[in-house]
Amino acid sequence: MRTLITNSTYLSSDYSWIKGNILIEDGIIKKLGTENFEHDIKINAENQLILPGLINSHSHSYTSFSKASIENTPLDIYMLHAFASSSERNYREIYISTLIEGIELLKNGVTSTLDHFMMRPNISVEGLEVAAKAYKDCGIKANIAPQYSDLSYSKTVPFLSSELPKKYYENPISLEHDQYFSIMDTMIKNYQNNDQVKFLIGVDGPQRCSDELIKKTAKFLKNRNCGWHTHILESKTQAITSYQRYGKGLVEYLNDFEVLNNKTTFVHYVWSNLTEDALVKENNVNIVHCPSSLLHLNSGMAKIDKFYHEGMNIAIGTDGANSGNLNMIEKIRLTADLHNLRNPDYNNWITAKNALKMCYENGRKVMMNDNIGRIAIGCDADLVFIDTNNSLWQPIHDLTKQFVYTESGVNIKRVMVKGEILVENGELTRLNELSILKEATDLKKEIDLLLVEKKSFLMEKLPYYEKMYFREIMRDIGKL
Ligand SMILES: [Zn+2]
Repeated sequence: MRTLITNSTYLSSDYSWIKGNILIEDGIIKKLGTENFEHDIKINAENQLILPGLINSHSHSYTSFSKASIENTPLDIYMLHAFASSSERNYREIYISTLIEGIELLKNGVTSTLDHFMMRPNISVEGLEVAAKAYKDCGIKANIAPQYSDLSYSKTVPFLSSELPKKYYENPISLEHDQYFSIMDTMIKNYQNNDQVKFLIGVDGPQRCSDELIKKTAKFLKNRNCGWHTHILESKTQAITSYQRYGKGLVEYLNDFEVLNNKTTFVHYVWSNLTEDALVKENNVNIVHCPSSLLHLNSGMAKIDKFYHEGMNIAIGTDGANSGNLNMIEKIRLTADLHNLRNPDYNNWITAKNALKMCYENGRKVMMNDNIGRIAIGCDADLVFIDTNNSLWQPIHDLTKQFVYTESGVNIKRVMVKGEILVENGELTRLNELSILKEATDLKKEIDLLLVEKKSFLMEKLPYYEKMYFREIMRDIGKL
């Protein structure tokens, strides 16, 4: 099947805008130019911009059932709410929540996403297959990194000894280490030739893992062409925990296990020291910046502008829908604007073009897929079309700046993955969205009944966490 897109203005791989035609054959961009290439179907893209589909480098699909459920609050407090508002999901809940995540992202112009996937109390092959099916059904590309850790969460925050009564320490995940790696081995192998869904290792946070588990992770990764993805140094209390437990920064600790390389992705990375920054740079580790969750949780001001200008690989993520929304265009704009607050030297601020490059070029590295994030011959035809014949866009001044600073996603006309149109005029082409939303609403009512007890337990723990938070946030941990 050959599709010819005519009269288009598209973002080229050197970030200039080109007027011309795009020929897609079997999902791949085959030709670019001004000729009327032979085709079976024609799409007239007059008054539309075409960009590569956006790449969301970090999200959590389970939060699509708890979107905006948590008021802005620090991470340590947020985590309690997140635990209390997530259930042990049956397969139908996993399927529908993952599907809704995929739908919402697609409608926001995202064609590739990284799902730091949560399945409590333990992951299973069946549960992961259900999530993979949801992504296959809605058509978005997804790398799934199932989260794991083996320590009680409360043991990984800096409480003083005996400060938190024993009854409030959670049970750690009961899955044996070897079971996790066996499941992951199966999933990675099952999907190694699948060009839509892939699996990788998903550490929850290194400080939430025992030394033994990190050692086994290093061993698992050593002989495989497999990525790994983890939250790291999101909050000040995580840095404090690391200094108290290991006598060094978390990245320095991980470096002892030789797990830092270009297949490693650190999400957030706010409270790093200079030695850690040097290790990240030297080992080509990817960093995912999630500006709206950083704001929602006041995690601190990540040194993203500095890192970017030093050549580090910074990608952008939405994070979960309970600490922001899934609007990637908004995250790109926030990335361009937010760090201005950190540095008065405007020559080093992140421009609109820099922020777009982070989304695409570094997102591609996080996804470990060279065929996405650019409109170039041989790449996948993952495209988002923006209608410019409206008051938001006219009169046109500068396409890149107008896209980053003014577009909200409201003018997304069409979204295509591997040449297949999945969203047209705001409507899904493959799925009946209304029936999916109806099922989600029904499931949510059942889940809420199960969460009543968890939420009251949360209220008992909260004062202890608040006391710890207000003490530790004032602690001097030196210059970062
Ligand atoms: Zn996250």
